[in-house]
Amino acid sequence: ALRTAPLRARAEIDLDAVRANVRTLRALAPGAALMAVVKSDGYGHGATPCARAAVQAGATWLGTATPEEALVLRASGQLPDDVRIMCWLWTPGGPWREAIEARLDVSVSGMWALDEVTAAARAAGRPARVQLKADTGLGRGGCQPGDDWTELVSAARAAEAEGLVKVTGLWSHLACADEPGHSSVDAQLDGFRAMIAHAEQQGLRPEVRHIANSPATLTRPDSHFDLVRTGIAVYGISPSPELGSPADFGLRPAMTLSASVALVKQVPGGHGVSYGHHYITAGETTLGLIPVGYADGVPRHASSAGPVLVGGKWRTVAGRVAMDQFVVDLGGDRPEPGERAVLFGPGDGGEPTAEDWAKAAGTIAYEIVTRIGTRVPRVYL
Ligand code: PLP
Repeated sequence: ALRTAPLRARAEIDLDAVRANVRTLRALAPGAALMAVVKSDGYGHGATPCARAAVQAGATWLGTATPEEALVLRASGQLPDDVRIMCWLWTPGGPWREAIEARLDVSVSGMWALDEVTAAARAAGRPARVQLKADTGLGRGGCQPGDDWTELVSAARAAEAEGLVKVTGLWSHLACADEPGHSSVDAQLDGFRAMIAHAEQQGLRPEVRHIANSPATLTRPDSHFDLVRTGIAVYGISPSPELGSPADFGLRPAMTLSASVALVKQVPGGHGVSYGHHYITAGETTLGLIPVGYADGVPRHASSAGPVLVGGKWRTVAGRVAMDQFVVDLGGDRPEPGERAVLFGPGDGGEPTAEDWAKAAGTIAYEIVTRIGTRVPRVYL
């Protein structure tokens, strides 16, 4: 597979790995439905192909941030008609009527959103599927407990009675599930149970209650409720090295990013390399040009740090990552034209992983895979 075009760079996506990861996650949360989170183009892996693979492996829900992302999935013609698709990033003036017509589940965190979705349901002539979002401590989206929640629940109940809304879910999001033993997880679960109890006392009968992301799915069975919303783990990446490696959880990274070595040349010692000359060759050596750069999502913060497998050896980015290319010091080796440099992959072929790049760039592996640019073709295996 590594000999086929496109030659400059490609991200190979192993859909068998996506399917296997979904099966692994389902086995960890046997009593819960699985929502595969495919926002931001499936964390850079391609939303529709990954959604399809996840559904083949038993995911019954898909999750996106924006309604536009969810509408694309529904219109793809590649997913079963009955797969549930939820979007949670509510913004004023969004395509709510289209969302209702496409049978999306829409998250509502407050009265602004409920009023607008209700108006869209009236225009569409059918009820909106609404999931009320509780802020149980994340301090980001979601409705505050107390008076705000009481008001939202009672307004949603009234809209249900009018036939404008069906409250299909109650949900929340965790702040620190990726930090082993963090006390806020227990506090958020307690708060969530209390907010559910209030809503159900007021007569809401949601189909699903959910709060678990990947780290909670992997480590906190008491957070699974009726559904788990897994993103990063579907793509085979551990939410945090502190929790464990992908292999510790039986997960396999799905993306391999590689590029052809585009030029090899001999240079003397003392030669400055790339913008700013932040790398100076220690002695006579060979330099290899790798034709991907920060426009492709190779982080500039990984200048002089990112690892690359070339000819069976780990090399390090020499000097700055540029927009379209970077250089590695090959220490005298002379790869053949077109030999592939592997930036990251599952790691079992000796190549670095997205986690290694995250460390090199001072970020998280989520950002590494999600930022791989549109100029890099995705090749599905
Ligand atoms: N749920 C919500 C609301 C999210 O925003 C995300 C992603 O950030 C997820 C679930 C999935 O999180 P993870 O990728 O850690 O599984």
